[in-house]
Amino acid sequence: MEEKDVFCRAIGTETDIVQKEMYEFEDRSGTRVALRPEGTAGVVRAYLENELDKKNGLEKFYYMGPMFRSERPQAGRLRQFHQIGVEELGTNSPYADAEAIHALTTFLDAVGAHGYKVKLNNLGTFDERKIFRGELLEFFKPHAKELCEDCKRRMEKNVFRLLDCKVETCRKIARQSPPLKKFLTAESTAHYEKVCRALDALKISYIQDDFMVRGLDYYTLTVFEVTHPKLGAQDALGAGGRYDNLIESFGGPKLGAVGFAVGVERLQMCLEKQNDAAPVRKNSVFLAALGEKAFQVAFGLLGELRSHKIAAFMDLDGKSLKSQMRSADKSGSRYMIILGDNEIEKGVAVLKDLNDGSQQELKFTEVTEIIRKLNG
Ligand code: AMP
Repeated sequence: MEEKDVFCRAIGTETDIVQKEMYEFEDRSGTRVALRPEGTAGVVRAYLENELDKKNGLEKFYYMGPMFRSERPQAGRLRQFHQIGVEELGTNSPYADAEAIHALTTFLDAVGAHGYKVKLNNLGTFDERKIFRGELLEFFKPHAKELCEDCKRRMEKNVFRLLDCKVETCRKIARQSPPLKKFLTAESTAHYEKVCRALDALKISYIQDDFMVRGLDYYTLTVFEVTHPKLGAQDALGAGGRYDNLIESFGGPKLGAVGFAVGVERLQMCLEKQNDAAPVRKNSVFLAALGEKAFQVAFGLLGELRSHKIAAFMDLDGKSLKSQMRSADKSGSRYMIILGDNEIEKGVAVLKDLNDGSQQELKFTEVTEIIRKLNG
């Protein structure tokens, strides 16, 4: 939670987030506060409050935690969601932009995401955008009647957002608009070029997307987004960019910064969908028992496995074998141990590997040891 003004100042009073999506209220002292819709504004506020800008060097931070936006809920769009974010404050180097993107892709690779795309654009400086804004307005004015209701409103409030509207008629018109590139100075273009070359050096592939503008006003120069084709309409896994005016706008010195945030629930969705084709089974065990005696033996084995730190599950309601098979599948376990009265008499259990369907008979006393060996 922060004072509302922290977000208004950083994100921009005309953005959707500030206009429509913040959970805000007055606290007991009469201060207008808001649940944080994103992490960067609070990091910059804390950075200055703790005088870290005076340390004269690069400061790096990360955060993980819940964010709140009162958006229309849909698949992949929640009102309370979690972000993992990274911020590098006190640098104007284009290599910091590439370093941030590298941190993002390294993280995604490490958790097993694949098939994602990195999109990149250069939004220029605030001054360059001012000129571009005027040009865009001129361009869209004659098309005003053809635009969707949201874009009609955006014409007045935030014309840049017309560029990434998802409505087909708006998209078609936007594709004809003058590109921002035309309005950039040599300096801004050179910064972006260096980011691209640094990404090449890191062997990160990216797509240049002239129409990606992002929903927060504070970005300058480099912006990026990572999308995944399995995510549907809300396809951004993570996003970020440079924000060279933000520290100054909070009353600090003119220092550059860059950062990004990953959406945890989106990442989770993406990993689950990726794995649809071949479910990854956990190295846990499901015990299926038929009959009272078998149940008691299985229950003892359940405790033994757990005491050896092997995750084990059992259906405690004495259902049919078929139903227990279904529960085993649902538990995502790799192994299943089946015990019936026949097995009890022989002192054995059947161990089935659900990955390949193979099965073997084991003595009760061997079960834990064998599973430990199989799990390495
Ligand atoms: P943003 O702060 O808007 O740049 O968002 C960064 C990332 O947070 C996005 O790429 C999403 O993965 C995630 N995200 C943003 N809004 C939501 C939401 N309402 N529900 C779930 N994830 C979200």
